[in-house]
Amino acid sequence: MSETTNLPDPSAVPETPAESARKIRKARSQVMGVVLGMAGFHLACLGAFYTGVSTTAVVAAILMYVIRGMGVTTGFHRLLAHRSFKTNRFIQFMLAFAGSLAVQGGPLWWVAHHREHHAETDTEGDIHSPVTRGMWQAHMGWMMTDAAFNEKGNNSRDLHKFPEIKFLQRHYVWLIVGQIGLLFGLGAWLGAAFPQLQTSGLQLVVWGFFISTVFTWHITFMVNSVCHRWGGRPYDTGDASTNNVFIGVLGFGEGWHNNHHFYPSSARHGLRWWQLDITWWFIRCLKAVGLASDLKIPKELRDA
Ligand SMILES: [Zn+2]
Ligand SMILES: [Zn+2]
Repeated sequence: MSETTNLPDPSAVPETPAESARKIRKARSQVMGVVLGMAGFHLACLGAFYTGVSTTAVVAAILMYVIRGMGVTTGFHRLLAHRSFKTNRFIQFMLAFAGSLAVQGGPLWWVAHHREHHAETDTEGDIHSPVTRGMWQAHMGWMMTDAAFNEKGNNSRDLHKFPEIKFLQRHYVWLIVGQIGLLFGLGAWLGAAFPQLQTSGLQLVVWGFFISTVFTWHITFMVNSVCHRWGGRPYDTGDASTNNVFIGVLGFGEGWHNNHHFYPSSARHGLRWWQLDITWWFIRCLKAVGLASDLKIPKELRDA
C-alpha cells in the first residue's frame, strides 16, 4: 500500500571499511544520545514537584502539545510523508517547523522511517512492529537501536528538493534549545510582571516543554505500539493495524490507524462521522481559506 520504494541507489559507490566504521560509531553515539535524552526528559518532568503548577503552566503545556502535535500529524505525517494534500512552500515549512519542535527527530528522518513502516508493516523489516519485535521495541525501544540511525534507502529523497526542509533536519536541535530559552524567558517575564499568575521561567520550561513533550511522545509512540495491537480492524490490511478510539481522539485523528494503513495517502483518517479526526478538520480549514488543495480521500467517501 506504500507509495515509496526502497530500491538501492544504482549510482551509489560501495562503502569503504573506514566509512562503515565511522557510520557505526556515529549511530552508536546517536543511540546513546537518545537513551540519555529520553531518560533525562522523563526525569525533568519530576521538576514539577519543585516548580509547582499554575493555570499559566497548564495552558502552556496544552498549547505546546496542540501546536507541536498538529505539526507532526499535519506536517510530518499527512503532508510530507504521504503528500495527501497540496499547500504552498511557506505553509509546508510552517507545518514542518511545528513538527520539528516536537523532539521527534528532523522531518527527513521521521518521514524516511515512517515510509519504511508502511512498506514493511509488521514484517521483519519493520523496526517498530509490536508483532515482530514486542511492545517495548514498538513503543520507544526501536529508537535506541543502531537501525534507527542507519540510512533508510532513499525514502525521503524526494523532499531534498526543499532546502528549507533540509534546513529543519540539519538544525532541529537548535529549535529545541530555542524553545526552552523562549519558554524560560516568557515565564520569567510573566512571573515578574504579573506575580498573581504565580509562574516562573523554570515552571514554564517544566510544563510547557518537558511535560508537554513527553506527553506528545507517548501519544505518537502509541500509534506504533497500541495501534498495531488493540482496537478494531474494519479493513483487511494484511497487517496488525487497528483503529483505537483513545489515540484517535488524543492523537488528533492518528489513531484511526487501520483506516490509514488501508488508505495511506488519504488526508482523512477518521472515515466515519463519529471518528473524530482533528487533523482532517484542520486541513479542511486550510482548504477553506485557500491554503490547501487536492485533498486526497478514498473513493468510497467521494462516491457517498
Ligand atoms: Zn502503522
Ligand atoms: Zn502513515
